[in-house]
This record gives sequence, structure tokens and C-alpha cells, in this order.
Amino acid sequence: MSTAATTALPDALGRAAREFIVSEHGLLIGDQRPQAADGRTFATLDPATGSEIAKVPQAGAQDVDRAVETARTALEQSPWATLAPSERGRLIAALADTVEAHQEELAEIESLDNGKPVKLAQYVNVRGTVAHLRYFAGWPTKIEGSVLPVTAPNMLCYTRREPVGVCAQIVPWNFPLLMATWKVAPALAAGCTIVLKPAEQTPLSALRLGELALEVGFPPGVLGVLTGDGETGAALVDHPGVDKISFTGSTVVGREIGAKAGCALKRVTLELGGKSPNIILPDADIDAAVKGSYQAIYFNSGQACNAGSRLFVPAERYDEVISALAERAAATRLGPGLDQQTQLGPLISAEQQERVMGYIEAGRSEGAEIVCGGAPTLEDSGGYYVQPTLFSSTSDDLSIAREEIFGPVLVASPYSTLEEVAARANAGEYGLAAGVWTRDVGSAHRLAAMLRAGSIYINHWGGSDPSAPFGGFKASGVGREHGHDGLDAYLETKTVWTSLA
Ligand code: NAP
Ligand code: MG
Repeated sequence: MSTAATTALPDALGRAAREFIVSEHGLLIGDQRPQAADGRTFATLDPATGSEIAKVPQAGAQDVDRAVETARTALEQSPWATLAPSERGRLIAALADTVEAHQEELAEIESLDNGKPVKLAQYVNVRGTVAHLRYFAGWPTKIEGSVLPVTAPNMLCYTRREPVGVCAQIVPWNFPLLMATWKVAPALAAGCTIVLKPAEQTPLSALRLGELALEVGFPPGVLGVLTGDGETGAALVDHPGVDKISFTGSTVVGREIGAKAGCALKRVTLELGGKSPNIILPDADIDAAVKGSYQAIYFNSGQACNAGSRLFVPAERYDEVISALAERAAATRLGPGLDQQTQLGPLISAEQQERVMGYIEAGRSEGAEIVCGGAPTLEDSGGYYVQPTLFSSTSDDLSIAREEIFGPVLVASPYSTLEEVAARANAGEYGLAAGVWTRDVGSAHRLAAMLRAGSIYINHWGGSDPSAPFGGFKASGVGREHGHDGLDAYLETKTVWTSLA
């Protein structure tokens, strides 16, 4: 349990967000909001000050048991079990509408709990949530099996696509509401039921989403929410009543969950870490490449799985690119998320700040050059700020060049040929995303084919849409979210054979 002191909530917080934050928080199980069975709670903090903003229940094994049983009952015996696909779609669309109607409240909750600029929270986290819900609201009426041309005579053979069942959905703190919705929306479209566990640093928006789902008429038990820590997540993963686990988080925890799911033969989707290479070719529009590369790494204070955290620059354009990037980075305004002037918020926690500073120290001692940043900042605030940092290094073997830092730290290196840069970009263990900046359409698509990554961004960074599959090659994950692939991950195929003889 945290020992942080509660202080007044920031004045910039609107009435609706404030009322929700100061209300008593329970778990969401069915239509009940119980405290944890053993009465434990934990504090969620404001990363801009380190002060406590609310207490939430710490779900334990008994609560996990109850939530999974409730989700099972909702799957098999509630009106959800037999609801017409058109009604399922209508409910998901109604949830999209109500999230949209509450967008300012949700953005403020998200900004205060996570630290990110409130405009970013509104445009990315909340409006992204609305977009994913609207996209998946269209799916229930389009989930089709097929009639198969089997060889056996007098036989009708067809497939049914059925919900995979009770889903444990475990999400991280970097885009709390959006990461939850990437999982919740397709699972609802498929007709599954859900127990959602938000990250312990950012539990609030998931609780609000669960309440809104009940308000628009989802049968109780379709979407349960358990606040808690890694132990709560592990208890969910281990629960025999869970059919599918969908996890977004670190590769370390993802490996553990993948191994457990393998043993129990549970369905599993894993969205994990990254160390994504961003490659500028000699003929690129350098201004656009510098702006895009700045966004690629410093967006959300570098706390994005697909952050462009490795930059490869042609040797002949290296000095020009590095000094333009450093100038931009040094001019960035850091501050609390609820301050409208803020461009970069604090990191999520003291622990994350320490981890990022540890990497910065390692980079220094392993011989990389700091071009700008490299220190904590705004220390009087009590918040977890780190300056946007740019390293220059000719070596790919440093820890800062290989490992995911998950903070505002970019490592730039010069290169000479296309083949060389493709090999260096592919050398790491991750494969989530990669970027290419060029005016030459041939080089762009040659590199797109050569790079081993789940998303390739050409002349921009970070394109995302509910219809466009997202996920990792190699240690960046298993499976895809969004689009057809994202829906398929929540469906089982059943083949039905009927003798007509
Ligand atoms: P994390 O420590 O792996 O935690 C992710 C979630 O798993 C949290 O809810 C966490 O709970 C829970 N958890 C921790 N240990 C667990 C266990 N043993 N069993 C089951 N659940 C457990 O990751 P994070 O630091 O919060 O998030 C950052 C990571 O997420 C980065 O590596 C980033 O790249 C990745 N990410 C990937 C994507 C993608 O789509 N590929 C998107 C966003 C983020 P607690 O918070 O309570 O510990
Ligand atoms: Mg918090």
C-alpha cells in the first residue's frame, strides 16, 4: 500500500471527473461494486505531484473467483447468451455514444491518473475508444460461418463462429482506456464476457468504462473490472474458468503468461514490448523526417510500445538531423497533464523514472554521447519528469540501443547503405514497428518488405485505425489486434456435419 499523502485535486479538474474520482471505488462484479473480500486497498497517484488521488480495492483470489464465475454465468445464462447480433451491435454503439458524451470527463480522469496532456488523452485515448467501439459495433451482424464443399455425398457441412468464452483482459498504464478498449470492443462483438484488469498505476478509467457499460444496458457480468496488481493478474491467468487471456504489457510478463496459457491450453493474445527502428534515407524530406522522428519517440513521453526509439540516419546527413532534433527536444514544454500548455507530461511513476534514469546512466557509462537532455526535471513539483533525451552512438551493442526503455530516450546512429541499415534494424529481439523516410517509392517498399516488424510506417509514424491489424513479430507478441484479425482472436470455429441420407 502506498504511503503518499492525499492532497487537493487540481483546480483544472472539471466537476464530473472530480465527482467520480472522490466517490468510493469498488470492484465491478455483475452489477455490484464490492470492496475486496479481504478489505485490501491501494492508492493511485498523480504522476505530476506524487500525491494520492484515490484509493481502489486490491482484488485477491476470492474476488477473481467471483468475477470469473459471474462472467461465466453471464456468458451462458444471462440475456447476453441469446441476444440477437443486431442488439449486441446496438449496445456496443450505445457505449461508444456514451463514452463520446463523457469524453471530457474521461480525458481528465485519464490525464490525472496517467500524467499525459489532457488533449492527448482526449484525442487518442478517448476518441480512439469511441472509434474502436463504433468499428466493432458493426461486426456482430457480419460474423458468418460457411457451407463447405465436402466430398462425402448427402452431407451438409457448415461452420459456426462462436464466442471463445470468458476472457481475462490485462492491460498496461500507458494508454489505459484505449488499451482496454482494444480488447473489450472485439470481445463484446464476438459475444464473449470479460474480466478486465487495468494496471495498478491507472485503475480509474476502466472502472468508469465498466459503469458506463452497465448504464447503457449491457447485462451484468458481461464486463467485470478488477483493480489490483500483478498478483491479481496472475490469479486471473491461472483461473480454470478463463477461456482466453489477452495481455498487453512487458515482454517479461508476456513470456510468463504465454507459458502458462500454453500449459493450460488457453487461447492467448500477447501485445508486448518494442525497440522500433526509424530509418531516414538520404533523399528524405529532412524537415518532415525530423518532425516525425521527434513525435515517434517523445509522444506520450516515450511510453508507447511502438515508440521509434532507434534512429538510423545516413552518415552524410547525420549532423544536420541530430542538431535539428536536439533543438526541438530542448524546446519541449514539460508539465502536468491538466495544464493546457503542456507538451510532455511526467513519466507514470517514481519507479519508471528511476528505470529510465538507470538506462541514461548506463548509456553514458557504456560510451554513448548525450546530445541533449539526460536528467530529471521540475523536481520541486514532486512529479516524475525526465527531460527528452537524445543519445548518439555508433555501436548497436549498448543496452540503450537494444532494450526497451519506455521513456523519452532516443538513440541515433549513422549508417552507410540500405542493406546495412536493414540488417541492423532487424538485429534486435523485438519486431513491433519500423519507420522509413524517403521520397523514393521503390526504396520505401523494398525496405517495407525487408523489415521484420508488425507495422511499417512510411513518411509518418504511428498510423492506427480500428480496421488495421496491429501486433508484433518476434518478442513483440503473438497475434494481432484490430480489424478482422482482432475479431477472429475472440471466436472459435465449430464444424457441424449433418447426414442428409
Ligand atoms: P507490465 O508490468 O507487464 O504490466 C502489464 C499488466 O500486467 C498490468 O496490468 C500488470 O499489473 C499486469 N501484470 C503484472 N505482472 C503480472 C503477472 N505475473 N501475471 C499477470 N498480470 C501481470 O507492463 P507495464 O510496465 O504496465 O506496461 C508497459 C509495457 O507494455 C511495455 O513493455 C510496452 O511496450 C507494453 N505495451 C505493449 C503494447 C502493444 O500493443 N504491443 C501496447 C502498450 C504497451 P500491475 O500494473 O498491477 O503490475
Ligand atoms: Mg495514477
